[in-house]
Amino acid sequence: MTFRKASFIYSQELEKYNYPPDHPFNVDRARKVRQVLASMGLLSGDGRAEVAPTPAKRIVLKKFHSARYLHALQTASKGRWDAEALEMGVGTGDCPVFKGVYEYSVLACGATLTGAKLILTGSADVAFNPSGGFHHAGPEKASGFCYINDVALACIILAERKKRVLYLDLDVHYGDGVAEAFYDRSDVMTMSLHETPKVLFPGTGFEDQIGTGQGRGYCVNIPLPVGTYDQAYMKAFEEIALPLIGAYNGDVFVLQLGADALAGDPLAHLHLSNNVYADIINHLLRFNKPILATGGGGYNVDNTVRAWALDWAALCGVQTGQDANPTVAGVMLENTEWQGGLRDRFLAVSTQQQKTVMPAVEGTIQSLKAKLFPIHGL
Ligand SMILES: [Zn+2]
Repeated sequence: MTFRKASFIYSQELEKYNYPPDHPFNVDRARKVRQVLASMGLLSGDGRAEVAPTPAKRIVLKKFHSARYLHALQTASKGRWDAEALEMGVGTGDCPVFKGVYEYSVLACGATLTGAKLILTGSADVAFNPSGGFHHAGPEKASGFCYINDVALACIILAERKKRVLYLDLDVHYGDGVAEAFYDRSDVMTMSLHETPKVLFPGTGFEDQIGTGQGRGYCVNIPLPVGTYDQAYMKAFEEIALPLIGAYNGDVFVLQLGADALAGDPLAHLHLSNNVYADIINHLLRFNKPILATGGGGYNVDNTVRAWALDWAALCGVQTGQDANPTVAGVMLENTEWQGGLRDRFLAVSTQQQKTVMPAVEGTIQSLKAKLFPIHGL
């Protein structure tokens, strides 16, 4: 395995904030991932380092967000918001106002941009910000628990430095904010695997949304049916995503690792084990390009923490097949059901699931091949 310099981006400053207690988004997941990795000795040695983020500057935020929106969010953060803010999604049930919402969002975004900077200067080959991945935020819109779109901004900054960016979004929800930002551009290819928008937020991300103008063929949506399991997911990844990633031949990967596609997530209906995430990361590493990875959704906290710890290990090239210390790791997460290292055990798939999921996925693969492959000479 090639030696890789890997930066884990985190600061205790992020622990000062949290969404309201009844909100599904749990900021504390990042701290827990850090804790698990530290106890396993996976944050140092062999080129690994922890890096503290700096908050994103306003001038940088304005490369994606409007001044009007940023002002409303900052004002709301201090406890004052009005109908205009609400109209931009700030103060809704999904995107509530909480104390320091602006400061948190700007620091979490800064963490992703710190990773982008480390990659641009060659200080890191892989960087992971578990506090990032706010892919639903729009230029003038808070949406789907997201206020500041760190991943879109990272793609913008990398593209400004003439990097061709491959954005891959594994969150169970369509990464609409990022896809829409680059819908007419070919220097950032956006690719999203997600549960079918027929049943899940944000209600877009169908396979016929492929980009427009210069960007036609550079937006790739792979919607998946309810109950999609590892084998079906990997088939879609290997038959659609992988050849397109190869044909596009980008300079850098930006990877959103939302863990809400895992089985048992309370907000979605896919049936994946975390092995899928590690397997995809291993595929990406073979391209030998820098990878900027972020967290995202993931509402079963224990499963999400374990998946992100596994993702970091995979990004660093640490093999975690059956060799992780199960007892120690099991105790750390206080999860009595799980005793098998960072990787999930095999998940059973019902006959009914096999009958419904695989034909639907195969249909989507055929339709995407027909739409996209000719554009990329495949
Ligand atoms: Zn999500």
